[in-house]
Amino acid sequence: MWCEEQVDYTFGGVGKSEVEREKGRREAQVHYPLGEGHGGEMKACVLQTPAPIESNPLRFTDVVTPAPGHGEVLVRVRACGVCRTDLHVIEGELAPRKSPVIPGHQVVGIVEKQAENARRFAIGARVGIAWLHRTDGTCEYCKSGAENLCDNPAFTGYSVDGGYAAYIVAPQDFVYAIPDGFPDEQAAPLLCAGIIGFRSLRLSGIARGGRLGFYGFGAAAHVAIQVARHWGVEVFASTRDARHQKLARELGAGWAGGTFDEPPKKLDAAIVFAPAGEIVPAALKALKKGGVLVLGGIHMSPIPSFDYELLYQERLIRSVANNTRKDGEDFLRVASEIPIRTHVRIFPLSDANRALNALKNDAIPGAAVLRVDDEL
Ligand SMILES: [Zn+2]
Ligand SMILES: [Zn+2]
Repeated sequence: MWCEEQVDYTFGGVGKSEVEREKGRREAQVHYPLGEGHGGEMKACVLQTPAPIESNPLRFTDVVTPAPGHGEVLVRVRACGVCRTDLHVIEGELAPRKSPVIPGHQVVGIVEKQAENARRFAIGARVGIAWLHRTDGTCEYCKSGAENLCDNPAFTGYSVDGGYAAYIVAPQDFVYAIPDGFPDEQAAPLLCAGIIGFRSLRLSGIARGGRLGFYGFGAAAHVAIQVARHWGVEVFASTRDARHQKLARELGAGWAGGTFDEPPKKLDAAIVFAPAGEIVPAALKALKKGGVLVLGGIHMSPIPSFDYELLYQERLIRSVANNTRKDGEDFLRVASEIPIRTHVRIFPLSDANRALNALKNDAIPGAAVLRVDDEL
């Protein structure tokens, strides 16, 4: 998958001493807990070593509060969405990039402090931080408008510390303004589930009047269906969990059935959100000639071999990797126009292990969100 192919982040756009300063600052953050320097401690859920979530590997503990570096803001976290990618990071399905690490990449919070050169957002502004923490801005992908494929990216909650914490730092250029009208907990799942679902919809090429399948109906699908219905698309939801089928019907799916049940009509496009490779042949079978199959996850179990006949007739399979900032900004605009309503189950930050166990067991219709209490 794309993720293993990417090298550690370096910052091609800045001078060598700048790079070294950056490196030193980031290394300083990995020594938990540390009592010196950065102005106090904060609560966070820290992953020391990847392990099955059933062993509750996140430790709720005190760590050093980060300080905003060049071009960065310090954000006081109010809510952080729980994403399946967090589970892949925690369980080691994605090779570790930073250890220990604070997971979480769907952060809604308040700008608390700005670096001298980071005045884009006012102190007190409500902002969001997503998976793409920064890019180098200089590689061929960044220069051609495909920054989601950057050769030297950093990812929130994976290669840099994320939002399962009281505070987080991020480059202001990669921070989103959160539209009014969404409570913090409702807004959090928009930042990955929402944005990646939106990019998946775009890549599927689905248009008004088209028929679209969703395989897996978790956080991303429950947002994407609202956009699809807004666009006048007919939706078919295939998912193993009866509660998720029910939610799909409530949100306007014309049909909801089991993962391997054949939808009643041939589809123009389908999006696989579940991380299970065995779904791919079944989803291809449901497509019309020329149909598009989009794989929305960062990780998937191996795809079994299948007859060429399933792909022939110009059917297409493609993956989705990250998102551009434009995807994020466009999606947040659409989300507030519709407006999107996310279904969330709220856990306190200290209960992140429990939230992730519930996610793994399909026990959450919609999205899980961690609330970070003011006193932390
Ligand atoms: Zn780049
Ligand atoms: Zn995510």
